[in-house]
Parts: sequence; structure tokens; C-alpha cells
Amino acid sequence: MQKLQGIAVSPGVVIGEAFVMDTEGFRIPRRFVPLAAVEEELQRLERAFAAAADEIGGHRDAVARELGRQYGAIFEAHLQMLRDPQLREEIEQAVRERNYSPEFAVSRTLRRYAKVFQSLESGPMAERAADIFDIEKRLLRHLLGRRREGIAHLTSPALILAHNLTPSETANLNRKFVRGFVTEIGGAGSHTAIVAEALEIPAVVGVGPFLAEVSGGERVIIDGDQGLVILQPDQETLDHYCRVVERHRSDALQLEGLRQLPAETVDGARIQLHGNIEFPHEVEHCLERGADGIGLYRTEFLYLGAATEPDEEAQYQAYAGVLKAMGDKPVVIRTLDLGADKLTAAQADLERNPFLGLRSIRLSLRNLPMFRTQLRAIVRASVLGDVRIMFPLISTVLELRQAKMVLADVMEDLEEHGLPFRRDIKIGMMVEVPSAVILIDHFVEEVDFLSIGTNDLIQYTLAVDRNNNEVAGLYTASDPAVLRLIDMAVKAAGKRQKPINLCGQMSGSPTYTMLLLGMGFRQFSVAPSAIPEIKRICRSLTISQCEAVASRAMTLENARDIKSYLKEELKKVLPERAN
Ligand code: PEP
Ligand code: MG
Repeated sequence: MQKLQGIAVSPGVVIGEAFVMDTEGFRIPRRFVPLAAVEEELQRLERAFAAAADEIGGHRDAVARELGRQYGAIFEAHLQMLRDPQLREEIEQAVRERNYSPEFAVSRTLRRYAKVFQSLESGPMAERAADIFDIEKRLLRHLLGRRREGIAHLTSPALILAHNLTPSETANLNRKFVRGFVTEIGGAGSHTAIVAEALEIPAVVGVGPFLAEVSGGERVIIDGDQGLVILQPDQETLDHYCRVVERHRSDALQLEGLRQLPAETVDGARIQLHGNIEFPHEVEHCLERGADGIGLYRTEFLYLGAATEPDEEAQYQAYAGVLKAMGDKPVVIRTLDLGADKLTAAQADLERNPFLGLRSIRLSLRNLPMFRTQLRAIVRASVLGDVRIMFPLISTVLELRQAKMVLADVMEDLEEHGLPFRRDIKIGMMVEVPSAVILIDHFVEEVDFLSIGTNDLIQYTLAVDRNNNEVAGLYTASDPAVLRLIDMAVKAAGKRQKPINLCGQMSGSPTYTMLLLGMGFRQFSVAPSAIPEIKRICRSLTISQCEAVASRAMTLENARDIKSYLKEELKKVLPERAN
């Protein structure tokens, strides 16, 4: 058994079979071959060994010719390992006696060898592990060849273990079979993490290198609450986690009872709890949890999930579906936030520093036909419900005015063509760049509502990449600098009586509910799965309690103290809640 600590990004616990994607995306599931096919599979294995040996021999000769014999010797060593009769026998036996597929037999046997070398601490022997992985990759490449399959083709439930998953890969995961995932890299604020919550599957990111330790088909536990990954759990651990899964089930049932009840504090303050969605079908998740509306619809996933750019009609249909399902409840559609980690293939090669580059509203304003198409679709859908438009990543007042001008122009156009729409659509902006907070008094005059995007606000305030596990310790909503900015924005909105929401991940974390209510928020937008828990907390406290907590928290000078103080206070109001 091996326990790995990563960053918890999507709650829940799942026990299942590993599906390993290495950096080259190889799929190495535990597959069995039918008895009748064993001989044929052994021949395939033999061909792969022969092809790999030819390849290595070719490299050895070429390198020796170019650089000298001592360099060619590196490949000679690989060749000797590949020709080791004991190794070959072990792999063949796994196919013949255990009926493993050659791919799985190769992967499992070589990774076992590598583990032994790795356990020799440091020194030249430990480094041999890298050579073994090299041989494994080479053999797999020959075995899989064109048969390499993507995770899109899963046919049974699995837990995905990968070096990395991009937001669009995550968005395209087969929801029927993917029960959870773990990645070696990635941070708490990444869109990959956000999509995991949308899919409502447990996920842990930023675990560090571990793929070499595990083979496809092995049993794994993903603990998305604690950020733990357990490889080959022992019986005791397995029993413990079976009980945790059971507890989750009964907790969920209990929370279901809150569905019809309002999110109202003990002293009668009504809190609006809205859902964040990435995909239209999530509207159901919101309604199931009794959401008061959609506070953030991340429309860029229409692009990321599609093979071709969605046209006006496709977008209209998506928005119309969401609006109809929500009835008269508000739906905040955020215009495209493409770029940064949500790059299309064409953009990917162009950006050097994508989070500071042509992303979000900047990209929309640079690509007016695309922007206008989206705005037309939203405005046309406005007759179907209470649609509101929100512009992302606004960093200057002129940028906001430009976006509003494009919207006004689109409306005029629709009017000329006699198409019906609502003229009084409310217009808002995301507050997620420090400059937007610094100039909040100007911005607040220009919009009908504001929504704070802490996921970006944290990274831009603290200069910490939201995707980078190396600096994940610095990426926290508890930082006093972040709290001061949030406080400034809430106060400015309150002064002008403009509604202000918080839609970053922070608002779905129970740790911050008291603080945010105490600061003056009466509206949150969270992942649908977080609605019941946040509602339960709201219903367990008074605003004056929260105000006291916020005042105290705002005097503390570092993130660690603030976070532990907030956790303690939460325990006082909800002692039964397991933290
Ligand atoms: C945010 O930045 O907090 C936000 C809600 O937007 P996104 O996570 O999509 O960048
Ligand atoms: Mg953002």
C-alpha cells in the first residue's frame, strides 16, 4: 500500500481500478486474453521484442558513429536488459499462466523491476529505473502501435491517473465510466479542478510524480475530501473507506432534506445560493439542489467540448435550454473566457504567458465576429427567461465600455431585423483582476451587478499561478491581501446598492461562509454539489456572529492564522460537521 498526498479539488471518495495514462497517453489497463489467443499474443509479444531490439541496435550504431562508442554503450545496456532471458521469461509467463495481455504483462513486470531499482536509494543503480521505463515505453509503443486508445474509448468504470489533464480533456471525459481522477501536476484553482466538480467526481491534483508506481488495473482509492490517493490499499484501509463512502451516502440523504428550505440565517437574512455551471445539463444538478439561479455559466466549455466552433444557433439552443429549465430564476451567462488554460489548439502555440495574454474579454474584443455571434445568441434567448450578461476579466474601464458598445450594437442589429429580445438585460462584470478592485468606484457606476472571481483574483494578487502545484501553498483565499480586496469591492457595491456575488471556488468552501456573510455578501454562486452544505451552514448561524468573525479575521496578518481561525469558528457553529 502506498499513500500519496495531493491537493483535494473535488470532494467524495471512490474506490476502483486504475486506468494509467502516462505522459505519452498510453493506456495500460489490466486486460486478459482468451486462452485460445495466448499463442498468438505471445507471437505479438515476440515481434514487439524483436522490433524494439532492432530499434535500439539502430540507435546504438548511429550514436556510436556520430559521438563515439562510449555513447553507443548507453543503448547497448538497454539492449542487454531487453535480451535478459529472465525478464523475457517473466513477461511470457504472465501472459501464458495469468492470461494477462502482453501490454499489461510488460508494464507490470517492468514497473516491478523499476521499483526494486528505485528502492536502492540514490546512486547509479537507482538511475537504472529510468532505463527500465524507457524500455517499457519502447515495448508498449511497438505493442500498441495504432491500437493506442484514448480515454474517450473506455468501456468500463475506471479511475484516471494521468500526468496532466487539460480542462478540455477533462470536459470530454466519458462521464459514464470515469469515476474519479488524479494528476501529477495542477493546482487548486485550475479549470481542470473546476470541471471535476462539475462532473461531480472525486479528484486530486498536484500529487507529484507517481505514475511509475502504478499499473493499470490496480486498485486505487481517491479521497477527494483529504486530497489523498492510496495505491493498492490493504484490507483495513479498504474497510475504513467503505465506511466513509457509506457516511457520504447518508450525509447526502440528510442534506437532501434541505432542498425545499430557503438558505436563511437564524436571524432571518435570506441568502441567495446560485449554481456555477459549465455544461447545460448541469442545470438539473442545480435544480435538484434547490438553487436560486445560475450565478455563473462558463460558456467557453461550449467551445472546448466541441469539435468545431459552435455557431449562433448551437449557442442559442444551449442558452435556451438552460433558461427554460430555470423558469423565472436568474441565469448569469458569462461571455467567453477562452485563453489561458482554456486554449483552443490554434491559440496554444502562440501564447508565451497565457494567463497574462490574450485571454477572456481581450480575446473576444479582438475577435469581434466570434463575440457578436455569442452576444446575438444570448440576446435572442433573453425572451425565454431572466438572462443577465457578465463580462469576464475586465481590467480597464475602457474595455468594459467597449464590450457594452458591442452589445448595444448587436441589440440594434436585432431590432433592425425585427427579432424579439429584452432591452433591459442586466449587465455585470467579473471582478477578478486587482485593477478592477482598485478602480471599483468607477466600475460600479457602469454595471448593474458585480461578481467576484476569486480563482483569478488570488493568482493575480499574489502572483501565484492557479495551475501550479509547486506554488500551491501560496495559492489561498485566506491571504489577507485577497481579503482586503474583496472587502473593498463589497463595500463599494454596498455604497451604490449594486448586487455583488462571489462565484470563485472560495464561496463553495464552508471555511469561508461566515467570513463572507460577515463582510456583507448575501449571494454566492457555487458548484451545484456545494449548495446543500453551504445552505446548511447559512441556516446554522446569525449575521451578527458572522460580522464578529469577519472583523476578527480581517485583523490577522497571515493566511495560516486566518484559515485556522475560520475553521475553529465553523466548528463552533456546526460541531457535528467533520472537517
Ligand atoms: C474566477 O476566476 O474566480 C472565476 C469564477 O472564473 P474562472 O474560474 O472561470 O476563471
Ligand atoms: Mg476567472
